Amino acid sequence: MQFKDIVGQRDVINRLTEIIDSGRVSHAQLLLGATDDGSLQVALAYLQYLCCEHRVHPEGGDLRADSCGECPSCKKIAALMHPDLHLYFPTATTTRVTSAPKSDDFGAEFREFIAAHHALGTLDEWYAHLGIDNKQGMVREADAAAIVQALGMKAYEGGWKMVVVWMPEKMNAAAANELLKTLEEPSEGSVILLVGESDERLLPTIKSRVQTVRLKAGNSRRAAEAALAEQYAPLLVEWLRMLFKLKMKELSAQVDKMAALGREQQKQFLGYAQEVMRSCFLHSTAGLPVELGSGDQKFDAMFPQMVTVNNIEMINNALDDALFAIERNAYGKIALMELSFRLSKALKKR
Ligand SMILES: [Zn+2]
Repeated sequence: MQFKDIVGQRDVINRLTEIIDSGRVSHAQLLLGATDDGSLQVALAYLQYLCCEHRVHPEGGDLRADSCGECPSCKKIAALMHPDLHLYFPTATTTRVTSAPKSDDFGAEFREFIAAHHALGTLDEWYAHLGIDNKQGMVREADAAAIVQALGMKAYEGGWKMVVVWMPEKMNAAAANELLKTLEEPSEGSVILLVGESDERLLPTIKSRVQTVRLKAGNSRRAAEAALAEQYAPLLVEWLRMLFKLKMKELSAQVDKMAALGREQQKQFLGYAQEVMRSCFLHSTAGLPVELGSGDQKFDAMFPQMVTVNNIEMINNALDDALFAIERNAYGKIALMELSFRLSKALKKR
């Protein structure tokens, strides 16, 4: 995640990069703000900047600095695969992990969750992703022990040892106590970021040991969604229209346009398409309002009716498969063409 991928929070971001550039990196910080306002995004972009081998200072614009997004370190942090980046978060037992759950058991799920929501997913969405039903997640003593251990070792890559604790307010007392010493005297080269939404339930002993950085409230997520819709709505609408007619020459040209987006943007586009389909479904089944933003009233009124109980699953599966294929380096055009045929078939089944 680069800072430029974050909507808003410019003041905080610029202050943070200034501090990093001046070499006064604080070893234990609490980033306080709603996840869907970008607190976890800021934390991840912060660490990426900290480790970046070619920090950039873009001219113009409202960011004083950003990570390059291209160097090996940036790529590893962006994929949450950096060996010195350790992530902790609330967990509970699931059908797979039936006892003594801890963050390390759910690394893959957490990475998926971050990717799917661009690090803006809420705690409820995380619990739904884990499938823990009504259980309350917790950051546990085993997590605190893992943090102490991770920071006690040498960095694999010789740089910073980084720990992110998402939702420290879900830390139980045993875990919090276990962390006190580490927060007070972190080992050389450690950076601990607690990323929380509220400090009311944090122990005073924790609060007094970290430097608090407050983010602005302002719903970055809604703004990010609006920006995404503005970017992709015309392309999506054009494509959906073609799925009814299926004129091969036109469709092929349209798919070329989509394939030209590049892998990351293709994924973003398909994620956006998935959101649109979901809201169309909620519209046709529960009457919830939907805004396609196509600029064409007739289409906006007609299309949502096409997504029903009879085809929502086919539509979802088709989009999931295409996302998976593109993720796995499939040739974009082929994946998108196949997806077009499957969606066209599904839409006729309404
Ligand atoms: Zn970089």
